[in-house]
Amino acid sequence: MQLSAEDEDFRRRVREWLERSLTGRFAALRGTGGPGREEEAHAERLAWNRHLAAAGWTCLGWPAEHGGRGATLAQQVIFYEEYARAGGPTRVGYLGEELLGPTLIAFGTPEQQRRFLPAIKAVDELWCQGYSEPGAGSDLAAVATTAELDGGQWVINGQKVWTSLAHVADWCFVLARTEPGSRRGAGLSYLLVPMRQPGITVRPIRQLTGTAEFNEVFFDGARTGRDLVVGEVGGGWRVALGTLSFERGVATLGQQIGFERDLGRLIALARQTGAAAEPVLRDKLARAWIGLEAMRAHALRTLAAGPGRAAGGPEAAPAAASVLKLLWSRWRQELGELAMEVRGAPSMVARGEPYDLDDWQRLFLFSRADTIYGGSSEIQRNIVAERALGLPRQARP
Ligand SMILES: Cc1cc2nc3c(=O)[nH]c(=O)nc-3n(C[C@H](O)[C@H](O)[C@H](O)COP(=O)(O)OP(=O)(O)OC[C@H]3O[C@@H](n4cnc5c(N)ncnc54)[C@H](O)[C@@H]3O)c2cc1C
Repeated sequence: MQLSAEDEDFRRRVREWLERSLTGRFAALRGTGGPGREEEAHAERLAWNRHLAAAGWTCLGWPAEHGGRGATLAQQVIFYEEYARAGGPTRVGYLGEELLGPTLIAFGTPEQQRRFLPAIKAVDELWCQGYSEPGAGSDLAAVATTAELDGGQWVINGQKVWTSLAHVADWCFVLARTEPGSRRGAGLSYLLVPMRQPGITVRPIRQLTGTAEFNEVFFDGARTGRDLVVGEVGGGWRVALGTLSFERGVATLGQQIGFERDLGRLIALARQTGAAAEPVLRDKLARAWIGLEAMRAHALRTLAAGPGRAAGGPEAAPAAASVLKLLWSRWRQELGELAMEVRGAPSMVARGEPYDLDDWQRLFLFSRADTIYGGSSEIQRNIVAERALGLPRQARP
């Protein structure tokens, strides 16, 4: 895709700013907080994220009237590419910035937008996503957590699970059943709930990597304001699906630069260890490179399809986002597997106690989750089958 002179200038400004800023007290943050490393340097990454915000590098795609930069889709992708190229640390505010913010812009009241968007943009308030429950994952419409009105407040009871970053979040967007006896998507509401209150217990779940990025969250009479429902009371399903469409949105289009860097590092390692001379591993490394090119071609084609569709907004082409999720999640898993093969037997031993994993081991273990979160691969294939290929709908309960 041909970039305009304006976009090239934008790229240069982003690159220079990152080079200048990821120095001094932030220099050590390069590459931190990635898959399986979410616990790493949280306070420092928060400070960095606020530094980004102060310089106007958060919420690039939000419209200017909501405090965003109103950046074009191409510029947002450029930003994510340059961010990955510079080894920028994983941003601690991404759930607010990429999921809740766009949802409030699309579905929130002016009061909700005024109350929450500035704090998301400045990274003053962190958010988590309270969708999944022990009995509701892929089948999200099975949500059983309830909320009922008691005077001027909603009272929430139930359990969420796999709630990423709940342990550091100030707020949670919760999908709850507000109409007793309702079924499936009907009768659900989308509530904004403060996390720091006696009715909420957060219990970390330790993952394969040894770290605890996600949590169980128990609601025992937790409370939130009557006005903190996004969309209609009972109309939360539509809002929840809107959030999911943003989840598979623009940030993923720019991530291939990071993947390219990882693959480059692995090829260098394979040369160093002699693994690159082995025909089967050479073949796999070449396939990884081809997979990266296929992803890039798909991302460019999605971009060329036009802003609304590619941005993953409610009007987006869901199949294109699903195809990209299928491609990158499997690609990254295979890269992790390949890294273990390239390193050979030593890859099975931790560097030290307790459970001190290196980057490749973390990638190998954490990427098992890539084909589960944000909609599992099976669910993505169902979307592609039904919406892109027009195959018969899967039988539903
Ligand atoms: C690292 C990580 C972070 C997460 N963060 C969050 C978070 O912050 N907030 C949140 O709410 N949730 C989060 N999740 C939960 C995630 O959304 C769910 O794990 C996911 O939706 C799958 O649900 P489940 O785990 O209940 O599996 P299930 O839905 O029980 O699925 C089990 C298996 O059956 C398959 N399957 C299910 N239904 C179908 C079908 N109709 N057709 C074909 N196959 C099917 C699935 O693909 C899967 O392989 C996170 C998960 C992970 C791994």
